[in-house]
Amino acid sequence: MSFTTLGLNPTLLTHIARQGYTTPTPIQAAAIPPILAGNDVIGLAQTGTGKTAAFVLPILQRLQRGPAGGIRALIVTPTRELAEQILGTVRAFAAGGRIRSASVYGGVGFDAQERALRGGADLIVACPGRLLDHMSRGYVRCDTITTLVLDEADRLLDMGFAPAIRRIVAQLPAARQTLLFSATMGPDVADLVQAATRNPQTIRLSSDRPAETIAHAIVPVAEEQKMMALLELLRRERAGAVLVFTRTKHRADRVAQRLEREGARVARLHSNRSQRQRQLALDGFRDGTFDVLVATDIAARGIDVSTVSQVINFDMPDTSDAYIHRIGRTGRAERSGDALTLATPADRAMVRVIERALGAPLPRHSLPGLPLVDDAAMPPPPPAPARPALPRDHRGDAPYGRPPAHHAYRTNAPPHAAAVAPRTRDRTAPPVDARHAAPPPTAPRRRSPR
Ligand code: AMP
Repeated sequence: MSFTTLGLNPTLLTHIARQGYTTPTPIQAAAIPPILAGNDVIGLAQTGTGKTAAFVLPILQRLQRGPAGGIRALIVTPTRELAEQILGTVRAFAAGGRIRSASVYGGVGFDAQERALRGGADLIVACPGRLLDHMSRGYVRCDTITTLVLDEADRLLDMGFAPAIRRIVAQLPAARQTLLFSATMGPDVADLVQAATRNPQTIRLSSDRPAETIAHAIVPVAEEQKMMALLELLRRERAGAVLVFTRTKHRADRVAQRLEREGARVARLHSNRSQRQRQLALDGFRDGTFDVLVATDIAARGIDVSTVSQVINFDMPDTSDAYIHRIGRTGRAERSGDALTLATPADRAMVRVIERALGAPLPRHSLPGLPLVDDAAMPPPPPAPARPALPRDHRGDAPYGRPPAHHAYRTNAPPHAAAVAPRTRDRTAPPVDARHAAPPPTAPRRRSPR
């Protein structure tokens, strides 16, 4: 399949080629024609599948055709980072043309946004809270809006934006095109679909399943072993950037500070950071200034850094959806990626929930120098389900990654053996603390410059 068969005009095809896209991703192939035809579309696609271009390209084509004047397309998205990313995609595909675009979100001044909303932009990418602030001031004209996009709808709702979205939608013309994208389709998203769309065409692409290019593993640890485990994982030879998730902002700060002391080039991304700090962190992570980004869930939502080769869950996510979103930061655009989750005995139930959601048991991995926690800590994976287990790393040599030869990963052992084998050893092993006291950690290895 080629982009030329989707009905896009030659200008957009030129921009697509300039971006280096040769083949449409499945969501692009499925969504672009009905969006061009003016239909409402629900896109249930996992993150990293190219969904941004799937809605941006046909919207731009429709805007290029239609009469100018006022805001004509409104894209609502949960975070500032995502808004900037979408705006970047819009501008890349609209370069050299007449379509004007702007972003609207909190943490920065109102004036430029007000000018854009007063008619200075054809397309607005907005976060709901700030958009409502502007709307309440009375100068936002919504009657010219012909297309609404609700991007990352599940996360918008998770973040408590349901009332804001309903208020925004209520101000838009009823005769409009609505596009809703979501990684998952829970009851809340279904309610929003019901309220905001008309006769939508649903495109379901392996929703609730992460990209198959991602190799997952659980690293069973005791709570006090987490930092050691993280340092060990970062020491491994690996090309690409590493994204580390923590449960709280405070923990993100602590983990980042410790990694800095160990010599890693680390940035932090969480909602206590200013917009400028967040942008610098993201830009530096993108351009290779930082090897590691330590982030909380909300701040890292939807970020697209194509070089992320590894996501490490320092803390277990709260839900299987959160797991899928986090690990969707790697394996983007059909690249491979590793998703490693440090799991303590207290995380046992959540490991099962995630395995059930993925439909496959996750391999367990011990780390050299870190004894596995006691046998009660991690149950063996559940019996293999009807669905095939997650594919091995496409490099074909290990369930995840490619550990250096000197590392004692039991990568060839079946997942069950990997989970239970260390028990015997642990019973005779010195206490965890004593073991850890022995070799002082060395600095995480720096990757060669990209
Ligand atoms: P998204 O899911 O929209 O965040 O996109 C994930 C990544 O895939 C982005 O870096 C896009 O630039 C890239 N991408 C989107 N569509 C294509 C395509 N057809 N070919 C190659 N890369 C793509």
